[in-house]
Amino acid sequence: MSFPTRRLRRLRTTSKMRELTQETRLSMKDLICPVFVQEDLKTRIKVESMSEIERLPLEDINDEVGTISDLGIPAIMLFGIPSKKDEVGSSSFDDNGIVQKAISQIRKNFGDKIVIMADVCLCQFTSTGHCGIIKGNKIDNDTSLDTLAKIAVSQAKMGVDTVSPSAMMDGQVYAIRKALDDNGFTDVSIMSHSAKHRSSFYSPFRDAAECAPKFGDRKTYQVPFTNSREAMMEVETDINEGVDIVMIKPALSYLDLITETRKRFNIPVAAYSVSGEYALVKGAAMQGWINEKDITEEILYSIKRAGADMIVTYFAKSAARFLQES
Ligand SMILES: [Zn+2]
Repeated sequence: MSFPTRRLRRLRTTSKMRELTQETRLSMKDLICPVFVQEDLKTRIKVESMSEIERLPLEDINDEVGTISDLGIPAIMLFGIPSKKDEVGSSSFDDNGIVQKAISQIRKNFGDKIVIMADVCLCQFTSTGHCGIIKGNKIDNDTSLDTLAKIAVSQAKMGVDTVSPSAMMDGQVYAIRKALDDNGFTDVSIMSHSAKHRSSFYSPFRDAAECAPKFGDRKTYQVPFTNSREAMMEVETDINEGVDIVMIKPALSYLDLITETRKRFNIPVAAYSVSGEYALVKGAAMQGWINEKDITEEILYSIKRAGADMIVTYFAKSAARFLQES
């Protein structure tokens, strides 16, 4: 009986040997933690479909960001839930809006100790729950761009580091970059939800952010999950429009697109491991069917292995805790 000369098990013999030969590393420094802040809220509200995720009153934001920062996580992604919604989402670009207040408070308290990223979209702020402004019976792309640009500028005034447009309107990166530059905010970066797919993995988020569309769906603006070439066109278009970080969203069912983006473009790549991905793990873990920590670790490593430089994840805090221990 002849043995192969290459014995791959030699490098798996001890834990130190496995550490030495580990190809993919994961650190809390790779993570971005989403934070939900709600206007006029007195106490924290649990998000039913996302165990351990809460909507916070403005008063609790500093505590939450302090916890995140102490865990070694370098960035947060802010989402706001306003008290008032209207057809044009006017509270989204109000200097006294909930996101603007949160940014300003965090900046005052934490200075440069955390990267403040904020979502730029309309769905939390419009009475229609759509990511753009409706004209006739359509979501009007170019009218929506003006509003998205106004949101970005209002967040920049409060001290945001990175604006993160997620509306999937054509030309959103260019419109925002131009408005930021015209207003003197050349240092504010853009992380675009470049290839945001029309996905059923977002439904728990809609509980968290109260942004489900009141009619229709998002198929006219989000990328079909059947189309990878189209996803690459979205990424390329954002790069041409001046984006700083591109994002693939969701993550786990789209690992091929993360890899493809990493191979094709020399730009930082973020992956958004979305609420449905979180809920699947949490739901099964709560039943005792899987080990939450082990599964989380494997999922996050797979997203890194696919080529992501950073991961927006609802597991950010729990992952940072186990990464600190390991
Ligand atoms: Zn939206």
